[in-house]
Amino acid sequence: MGVARAALRLIRQVHGTDVAVARRGDSTTWDPPLADIILSDDPGVAIGVRVADCAPVLIADRRLGIVGAAHAGWRGTAQGVAGVAVSALGREFGSQPGDLVAAIGPCLGPCCGEVGDEVPQAFLDHGHSAADIERWFRRLPGRRPHFDLWRANRDQLEAAGVLGANIYSADLCTKTHPMTFHSYRVDGPNAGRMVGVIRKKG
Ligand SMILES: [Zn+2]
Repeated sequence: MGVARAALRLIRQVHGTDVAVARRGDSTTWDPPLADIILSDDPGVAIGVRVADCAPVLIADRRLGIVGAAHAGWRGTAQGVAGVAVSALGREFGSQPGDLVAAIGPCLGPCCGEVGDEVPQAFLDHGHSAADIERWFRRLPGRRPHFDLWRANRDQLEAAGVLGANIYSADLCTKTHPMTFHSYRVDGPNAGRMVGVIRKKG
């Protein structure tokens, strides 16, 4: 990313929707805050989220150059973290959703996203519509629901006003490609992490 390791701004992720901002002109030291979204207008730093099956969602404003990164596992996605990131870009920097481009990186795919019934229930509890939940959870007879993290994040970005043509999803499943990606489902709690990183152009 063209910055020193010390200029990589990460956050202490807790599967929520709190927002950290690495602002231009801020101190050069960084005590990682509890957050699952990080935004920046500072070309001197790169910002990122760590993942292993959760989705890294990277966002850039083509007009203002502002960037953001969100950590979206199923808990964060139930809370609408991608849409919260879009709103936060507007609130903090005046971004308009129509100027945003977004990328959803490798994460658990619908092929391997088997979950318990408490997961779709959590989406219902957070107010998502039955139609959305039906689209995001594949149900085959006699099998547990399979969550489509790719689709859910794409839909939530679009619902927040990002144009569908401006959303890129890698559509690569971390569990299906364990030689290429770190996967919590494959390696357990000691799984390595990947970092989805983005930086404002200078
Ligand atoms: Zn898979």
